[in-house]
This record gives sequence, structure tokens and C-alpha cells, in this order.
Amino acid sequence: MKRTKGVIIIGDGLADRPVAELDGRTPLEAADTPNMDRVAASGECGQMDPIGPGVRAGSDTSHLAILGYDPFKVYTGRGPFEAAGIGMEIRGGDICFRCNFSTLEGELKLEGDHFTGAKVTDRRAGRIAEGTRELIATVNGMVIEDVTCYAKESVEHRAALVLRGPGLGSKVSDVDPHDEGKPPHAATGEDDESRKAARIVNEFVLRSWQALKDHPVNQARIAAGKHPGNILLPRGAGVAPHLEPFEKRYGIKGACVVETGLIAGIGRYLNMTVPEVKGATGGADTDELALARAIIEMLADHDFVLCNFKAPDLGGHDSKPQAKIAAAQKMDNLVGYVLEHIPAGTHIAITADHSTPISFGDHTGDTVPIATCGPNVRPDSVRSFGERAVVGGAICRIRGFDLMKVMTNLMGVQEKFGA
Ligand code: ZN
Ligand code: ZN
Repeated sequence: MKRTKGVIIIGDGLADRPVAELDGRTPLEAADTPNMDRVAASGECGQMDPIGPGVRAGSDTSHLAILGYDPFKVYTGRGPFEAAGIGMEIRGGDICFRCNFSTLEGELKLEGDHFTGAKVTDRRAGRIAEGTRELIATVNGMVIEDVTCYAKESVEHRAALVLRGPGLGSKVSDVDPHDEGKPPHAATGEDDESRKAARIVNEFVLRSWQALKDHPVNQARIAAGKHPGNILLPRGAGVAPHLEPFEKRYGIKGACVVETGLIAGIGRYLNMTVPEVKGATGGADTDELALARAIIEMLADHDFVLCNFKAPDLGGHDSKPQAKIAAAQKMDNLVGYVLEHIPAGTHIAITADHSTPISFGDHTGDTVPIATCGPNVRPDSVRSFGERAVVGGAICRIRGFDLMKVMTNLMGVQEKFGA
């Protein structure tokens, strides 16, 4: 069987519900999308439940499902993917935390299982944006007992903490008190493994404050009248799942062309190639053609590319129909470039990872439209790409978890099940 390449282009939150000010159309239906209509008209269409019927999907759980990893089995929270998304190397079994650089006043002490002597006065350390790399370098790699603590800065005051060592659990409470004017909460654990992790985290927090309080970056901030980032406050503990790398699972090389750290983290986690795309901002102003060019570049030495285009989701969360229409049209521009430049015979799927309806301002569990095209597809009677236009198409209704099987079948790269 001849092998072909495959591309899945995902409009983040692209699907929607009828909008009164668009005369009952959805933003996707109201948008001018000749290229996505071309995919629909030349291929097979249908509806997709990203996770399952009616399930409100997050972007992370939905992308896991679309890549063929059952989120109900493997998802332990966003922490491990966010840490991978900022460039940390994460292994299955690591305990991951999200952290804030915060400002602490007083002399912090750990007395038994309580922090005393100091309180958090600014949870975001004046939204510290500079010097966090230098600050974190002083605590990264700290060894406590038989556990190594890895820390890395993210945007502004955000950071990640990863514990690696034997016998660690993730049922660990937050150190971040979530309110200002309070001391940090000493972490507690629900079981023996988690109690060990809690003990390590508390020691890490104490030592991080000792290492950061007089750091030159903080002395300079204090001298300039700014709040110092003199403590790291972990929260949201989660264990990193053991996931089979994409190439091992499918026997093909995959890349992720994406705009957000969270989805980049999923790609890195699965050992997929995640290129840096200049001009891809993740915002409404993003350069969609830069993403399209990256897809084509990746196809030169990869079999499969997943692309996430973030802008439609933002219009949905902001309940701005015109912004969402503009985002859908940008996505159409992206799809048009890809159609013009892909290697002959490549199979394409266009879809969404969930609905983010204007009327709801957040993700809902509605179906999303899907269209596939390529030489092995049997065209149906659907002529345009939209939530309702695809109903009655040949794909009928599938789950996100089915999509990689659909694609690898079209691509001729799937192992036969049975004799
Ligand atoms: Zn999403
Ligand atoms: Zn969203």
C-alpha cells in the first residue's frame, strides 16, 4: 500500500452556537471560508465529539484525544504539559507544580508542619518579568534528600517546579495561600508518598526564600521600589503520566505546529517535533501564513503534522462574534496556503478541539465539524464547512479519539487488526 502524509488543522474553539446578531448563524457559518469549503466539497465530512457526546473538553484533554491518547486514562492535570511547554524535560512519574514568584515579608521559618514568621504581600511579585531566569538558576537542581528539584521560569511571575526521585506522590496541597496577607501554607500529603513530596516541597520553599531574598536581582528591584520575587509558591501538584511517544505508537514521524505553551507541551511530551514559529503569537494578530509555512516545512521530513490555530478560541471567550469571524477567515487563509503547497497526495483534516460559543464565553460539549480530503477519501455531498453544513456527511459522527485511526487508515500507515 502506498504511504501518504497527513495534516490535521485544528481551529481552537472554532465551533459555536447560533448567534442572534449574526441572524442565527454561527461565526464559522457567517465567515467567508472558501478554502475550508473546498476541503469539505472535495472530501468527507461529519461531526466530531472531541472527548465524548456532551463532554466539555479542555484544549489539553481534547488534543490528547485527537492524537489518540485516551484522556480519561492518561490525564493528570495541565501541570506536566505546561512544564514541558516551557522547555522542561519531563519524565513519567515526575511530580509537577505550577509556581508563582511572590513577595514575602518577614523571616520565614518552618516549624513542624507550619510556616511562620512571614506573610505573602504580593502573590505575583509586582508581575515580575525581568530577572526571573537568573533567580530561578539559583534554585534549579537543588537536591533535597534523594529528590532533585528542577525549576524553570515561564512568562511574567509564573514558573514550574518538578520533583524527580523515588517514592513520590502527587496528592499534595498547595503552598500558595491564594490570598495575600497570609503566610505560605505548609504542604501536606494524603498518603506516605505524597507526605514525602510535601516534606520536600516545604523544604524547597524555605530554601528558595533563603536563596532569593538577598539575590542581586531582588536587591535591584527593592532599590527601584519594586516588589522582590523572593519566594516560589507551588500549587496544583500533578504526577506526569507515562505516555508512549507518538512515533512509537504510530510508526510515523510527527510534528506539532502550535501557538500555545500548553499544546506545545503535549507535542514535546510525545517526542514530536515542535518548531519555533516566528510571528505565531497565539493572539488575534498572529501570522497565520507563518504557521502554514511551518506545516509545509515540517512535511519535508515528517509524515504527520498537527496544527493548532488559537485565535478563534479568544473570540469565543471574549464573546466577540466579529473577532471570531475574523479568526475563522484567518484560519481559512492558513488552510488555503497549505492546500496550495502540500506534497501531492497528502491527506488533510480540518476540525476544532471544542466549541467556545459566543453566547457562553467558555468551552461547551457540542460537536465540532470535521472535513477530510485527499486521494483516498470518498467525497460526499457536503459542500461547505460549518457546524450544520457537515451534518449528513459520510463521516457521520466520530470521537476525537477516533481521528488518528481515520487518518492513519487514509495515509496507509496503520497496522492491520487481525489476520
Ligand atoms: Zn482549545
Ligand atoms: Zn479556550
